[in-house]
This record gives sequence, C-alpha cells and structure tokens, in this order.
Amino acid sequence: MIVEMSKKFFIRTFGCQMNKHDSERMAGMLLKEGYAPAKSPQAADVIVFNTCCVRRHAEERLYGNVNVLKSLKKERPDVIIAVGGCLPQKYGEEVLRRAPHVDVVFGTHNLPNLPKLIRLAERNSSPICEIWPGTQTFPTELPSLREKRFQAWVPITIGCNNFCSYCVVPYVRGRETSRPIQDICREVRDLAEEGVIEITLLGQNVNSYGRDLYGRSRFAALLRELNKIEEVQRIRFTTSHPKDLSDEIIEAVAECDKVCEHIHLPFQAGSDKILKAMNRSYTKQQYLEITKKIREKIPGVSITTDIMVGFPGETEEDFQETLDVVRKVRFDQAFTFIYSPRPGTPAAEMGEQIPEKVKMDRFNQLVSLQNRVTLEESSKMVGKSVEVLVENVSKKDPRMLTGRTRSNKVVHFPGSKKLINQIVQVIIGEAHPWHLIGEVVIRGQCSVRSSELEIQN
Ligand code: SAH
Ligand code: SF4
Repeated sequence: MIVEMSKKFFIRTFGCQMNKHDSERMAGMLLKEGYAPAKSPQAADVIVFNTCCVRRHAEERLYGNVNVLKSLKKERPDVIIAVGGCLPQKYGEEVLRRAPHVDVVFGTHNLPNLPKLIRLAERNSSPICEIWPGTQTFPTELPSLREKRFQAWVPITIGCNNFCSYCVVPYVRGRETSRPIQDICREVRDLAEEGVIEITLLGQNVNSYGRDLYGRSRFAALLRELNKIEEVQRIRFTTSHPKDLSDEIIEAVAECDKVCEHIHLPFQAGSDKILKAMNRSYTKQQYLEITKKIREKIPGVSITTDIMVGFPGETEEDFQETLDVVRKVRFDQAFTFIYSPRPGTPAAEMGEQIPEKVKMDRFNQLVSLQNRVTLEESSKMVGKSVEVLVENVSKKDPRMLTGRTRSNKVVHFPGSKKLINQIVQVIIGEAHPWHLIGEVVIRGQCSVRSSELEIQN
C-alpha cells in the first residue's frame, strides 16, 4: 500500500492584525488544497512570509528571516519559499533581487491566488512574481484556519483613504473598500454557529466604515446589528480614527451590551504643527475633547493609542505636547513607535529629519512615562471583580490561565483548563506592568487561592 504523505506549510506573519488575519486565510486555502500545517520552516515543503512595510524595522526583520533559509533551500531545492503581502506590493520584484532564492512573490491583492502560484512554482524553476494593483476578491470570502475556535477577526473595510504623510498603508492596501452590512452579519452568524463568541472588527479606520457604499458612515448601525446576534458575547473593533469617531458611534458603543468598553484611538503626536504635517485632520484640543467625551459616555472604558516620536521637524516643545497628552488622557496602554521614513511617502521627503539619537532619547522618555501611567491605571483595578474571557493556559506558568477583560487587559489566574473558552468573573489581586493577577469568583467568593491550587486538566 502506498501512503501519500501530505505536503506541509509554514506561515510566518509580520505586522498588524489585518496581516495576521490574511495569514489565517492563506492557511485556510492551503489546508483546502490538501497541505497540512508544519511546526517549523525546517519541517515544511512550503514556507510563506506574510510581510509588513509600515516601519523599516519590520522590513529588515523580514530579509533577515528569509536569508536564514538560503542554506535550507540549498539542501532541499524543492522547498517553495513565498513572500507576500505589503512589502512586495510596494517594492515588487526588488524582493527577488534582495533574496534570489525566493520562488514566489505576491502582493496584498493576490491572496486568493496563493495556491495556484505555489502549484506553478512547484513545476517551474524560475521565480514567479504576481502583483495586482487592486482588489478583486474581499479576503473574507476565502476559507480561514483560525488560531482560536472562539475568537475571530472580521475585516469590515480594507485599504485606507487618509494618506497620513508618514504612512505606506494607502499605497500597499489601496483605497478604502467596505463590505456590505449583510455580508458581515452573515459571516458573523456563521462564525457564531461554529462556536465563536468574540469577534474583532478590523479596518484601518473602522469609524468611516460604509462611506464608499452608503455615502456616509454606517459603523454605528453595524455595531447595533451585530449586537443582536445571540451567540456572540463580545464585539471588539480596531482601529478608530479620531477624526471620524462621531457621537453616534460613541453612543452605539455605550448602548450595545456586547460591544466591549475599549477604544483604540491613535493620536500619534500632541503638537498641532506636527499633526498638521502628518495630515491627521484633528488638533490636540479636539483629541482631548473626544477622549473626555468617551470617558463621560462609556463608564469603565479603556482607551489605548499609538504614538510616534521623531516625525520630521519635531522640536523639543512639540515632543512635550505629546507627553502632555499622555499625562492628560492617561491611556491604559500605548503602542509607541520611532518614526522611520518610508520611501514614496511625503514625510520621507520633508526636511528636518530628526537625528537617531534624539529620536531614541524621546522614545525612552515617552515609554517610561507611559509605563508608569499604565501601571497606575491597572492598579486601580485591584480589588474589583471583572468579566474575563478565558483564552489559554499561560505561556509562562502552566498552572495559570490567561484571558482578557472587556477592557482588553490581560489577566492571569489559577484554574482548570476546562474554563478555556468561557467567560468567568475574576477578582483582581495584583497589577503588573503588562498584566493583572486574579482569582476566579464563584458565587461571590474566591474559588481558589494560588497557594492551595490543584490543577485539573
Ligand atoms: N490605521 C491606523 C494605524 C495603522 S499603522 C491609524 O490610523 O491609526 C500602525 C501604526 O504604525 C500607526 O498608528 C503609527 O503610529 C505607526 N506608523 C505608521 N507609519 C509609521 C512610520 N513611517 N514610522 C513609524 N511608525 C509608523
Ligand atoms: Fe496609515 Fe493614516 Fe490610513 Fe492609519 S489612517 S492606515 S496611519 S494613512
């Protein structure tokens, strides 16, 4: 009897949640084609890199990772190495010049063709490069291999129309395109039937969802529709753009019981001069007013953000304005970035690029301030009972479970694996910079203490 072993694939993802979701789609398609997942690149017949080019750092890491595989390709020339996503969309065949051992190069819009391109590469000795300028299929119409059974990402828009002057996203993802409300609701209903209880709506600027289809934003209406789907317990969304976060949306978040009290609202910089040069379309004052409104209307809300230092022309005074926003808003968490010029964007051509040492110094100041604020804000949760969706066994300590509060804070607590995929009440005992520690509550009492814990697996 001849047993045919199925070929294996390995996907490495760089960048944002949209990319992670695209990788799930790639995995779903390859699975459908008969491939099986491999645990490492070394064990795979097809290795896919799903790339990011938002910052220079992600780009450098990608080439580092791809070049490590040169020797593997020499040993096993039939291994297929594919590089896809944002980097090839922007730089095209340059990827092949920098990494000639790559077999397939494909753009962000070519995702549905990946299986076909791999089949072609298996037959062909010369590399294949396919980059379409625009979208033909909304990626969500493709199969998906989700990492978690009970959580799912759902893209509601792809692309971006904002053209912030530092950002490559509009060039690599194209113009903002929304999916019709009924398609999104249908997908979420299907996911709910498969056991998904938490969905995260994805888009570069979810607040403007629907403008291309309906003439005005229908994001609030979408939230209200999804809130009606019975099995869904939690609805999250990212990213919100301050210029489009309307009262209507804030009210929908406040009123829909399943929509989590968490808004990720990047502010990037505090100085009006820099915000203008970034083309962000709001002022520091407007940003402060929106966050004030959010806190008034949505009790217990957590606000997180993205902040960038070292944009061209940023003076010490400009940077102080950024720190001032951090002090005033008191973000629960912030993703902090050092500006890196991206070829082809207007900011890369601006004079007054900031020296690396100054950028680094500002970055360190910002991070230390935000870390202090994060810890102070998390400490306020000590003693409170919060709802946690249990996600997994903690990576660091197998006796602990890990989950997230509705406000998106990570909580570790002792408990049985059986709780995974369930929503439990947890009393917070300790706050740490990146997580909280707590204990599960049963009927108003703490069920277990870490010291008395016996794990039932
Ligand atoms: N659409 C989202 C963000 C997408 S990119 C928004 O508008 O907020 C994610 C983050 O990367 C941005 O918020 C920004 O802080 C950072 N970023 C984007 N381009 C960058 C660049 N050239 N250098 C450094 N950070 C950058
Ligand atoms: Fe980039 Fe600005 Fe669009 Fe966000 S809103 S993806 S930062 S251009």
